Amino acid sequence: MPTQPAGDPAGARRADLERRLDAVQARIRAASRGAGRARDPELVVVTKFFPAADVRLLHDLGVRQVGENRDQEAAAKAAELADLDLDWHFIGQLQGNKAKSVVRYASALHSLDRSSLVTALGKAMLRENGHRQDAGLPPRAPLATLVQVDLRDAAQRGADDHGVGRGGAAPGDVVHLADLVADTDGLELAGVMAVAPLADDPAPAFERLAAVAATVRDGHPGATWISAGMSHDLEQAIAAGATHLRVGSDVLGPRPPVL
Ligand SMILES: *Cc1c(COP(=O)(O)O)cnc(C)c1O
Repeated sequence: MPTQPAGDPAGARRADLERRLDAVQARIRAASRGAGRARDPELVVVTKFFPAADVRLLHDLGVRQVGENRDQEAAAKAAELADLDLDWHFIGQLQGNKAKSVVRYASALHSLDRSSLVTALGKAMLRENGHRQDAGLPPRAPLATLVQVDLRDAAQRGADDHGVGRGGAAPGDVVHLADLVADTDGLELAGVMAVAPLADDPAPAFERLAAVAATVRDGHPGATWISAGMSHDLEQAIAAGATHLRVGSDVLGPRPPVL
């Protein structure tokens, strides 16, 4: 992060975030108008690697949807910011044994990529609602769940995934996973998500995602979310019909080197 002027570092950071957030929102409005869309997509601000203090400033600037990709970091921030009305979107690859942690704070999970995770999340929701019942609390809202689609072609897919979060289910497996999610208590099938492949033009990749999304909606008309578009490709995602954008660095600034 750039060094802050002495005196009022929080104020300087707030101004920095406000300027960047305004610029991203202006891009979203322009792209939505350009695509002739009646409604702007939702902006999910990806706060990974940035401190809870930044999330608090963003909340103060009107942000309510935030995204995180690592459970340990997300759980700590959600606990620290429990006084705020924030929706936490989990967008990273998830190990089954972390499901019970994620359902404590997340309202949405964008990265469902295999059937064993459906089972783990269903169990975790049952357990969480059991705890809530024991504590005299109402059950939590169902977890909005998106199937992550791998948009790489088969050859690239076979090659590697260097852990950059470009995983996901093969397009041919998506409907089956969507059916499993829809049949699981505690989960609500919300739609599909993808990260554009590194090597390709994002526009045709997002068109492929829109086609997969339409196939899912054939069986599940309520599964309307299309989570696509990051800092560098949000315009292409909006043109292809994205309903939820996941934008990190263009709001928060360059990410600090991996911790
Ligand atoms: C980090 C991340 C983003 C945000 O990426 P930026 O390029 O910083 O906007 C979006 N989606 C996923 C899955 C991520 O891991």
